[in-house]
Amino acid sequence: MNAADGERYSRQILFAGIGASGQEALGCSHVVIVGCGALGSFHAAALARAGVGRLTILDRDYVEPSNLQRQWLFEEADAEAALPKAVAAERRIAVINSGISARGIVADLTATNALRLLGDADLILDGSDNFETRYLINDFAVSRGMPWIYGAAVGSYGVTMPVIPGRTACLRCVYPDAPSNVQPTCETAGVLNAIVAAVAALQVADALKFLSGHADLVVGRITTLDVWQGGIRQIETPPPDPQCPCCGRREFVHLEESVREPVRMCGRNAVQIHDRERTIDLLELRSRLEPLGEVRASEFALRFVTGPYELTVFPDGRAIVKGVSDTGLARSLYARYVG
Ligand SMILES: [Zn+2]
Repeated sequence: MNAADGERYSRQILFAGIGASGQEALGCSHVVIVGCGALGSFHAAALARAGVGRLTILDRDYVEPSNLQRQWLFEEADAEAALPKAVAAERRIAVINSGISARGIVADLTATNALRLLGDADLILDGSDNFETRYLINDFAVSRGMPWIYGAAVGSYGVTMPVIPGRTACLRCVYPDAPSNVQPTCETAGVLNAIVAAVAALQVADALKFLSGHADLVVGRITTLDVWQGGIRQIETPPPDPQCPCCGRREFVHLEESVREPVRMCGRNAVQIHDRERTIDLLELRSRLEPLGEVRASEFALRFVTGPYELTVFPDGRAIVKGVSDTGLARSLYARYVG
């Protein structure tokens, strides 16, 4: 380490848990951040400042004015230009720390590109907003023995859990299936920037432990916290479940390429989403979406218009997103409004 870096990271090196050897290890590490919204942009900024040598930032979305309240890396000009978040993040990280390598990739993580995008990570941080992506990360990480750290936040509530394959329970040990009912999202229930900072900070702390050579300090536990009602709760996760389809039976269904791909509808500016079967209560979804735009629902279909987009959602979880031809953007809209 040169003298300038010794000074730059001096307060972190002074911290006994990191030290000079931990700092060297961080500098040789590669972290992939999946999703660069509120959680992911905190991860990216914190890890860049901590001197993690290589960051890859994946995101499929564009900066919008409503992101600025909690998505730490972005500025008004990014929203005005509707820059891809991955591009805006890469630019901002380059200004925060020119001594590390940060690469933003505008992409929707799928079974098809998972190996290419995640393959040489030392650790994956979850900054995504949906269970499909998390199950894909979980399958990929467990199949390769790679650690990853789950995180989620909505309203004033958040949750995080590290997954160290071979040692701790995986996401499917704890949540065998995605929630089948309509879930609140940041678009429908709002979110405080304080909770995303709190969750992302816990994820970053576990990442720093792991990458600096203290993997043994990463404990398999679920932390839930609520910054409005108060209260932090930590429960140790059970040991890995031998019957877990992912880490027990090693059936990596989310890595099967046929499972997830949305389909562009020929001749129409629309994308069909049909990647998982779930039962959706359309009337409940209508009540969540009513404050946000024009919505109509029957027992057969719900139609919701927001800006230039129109979502038609069916009770089996399928949806048609009109006004887009980009499948990643369509999946992003689905995750935001349907959950
Ligand atoms: Zn498992």
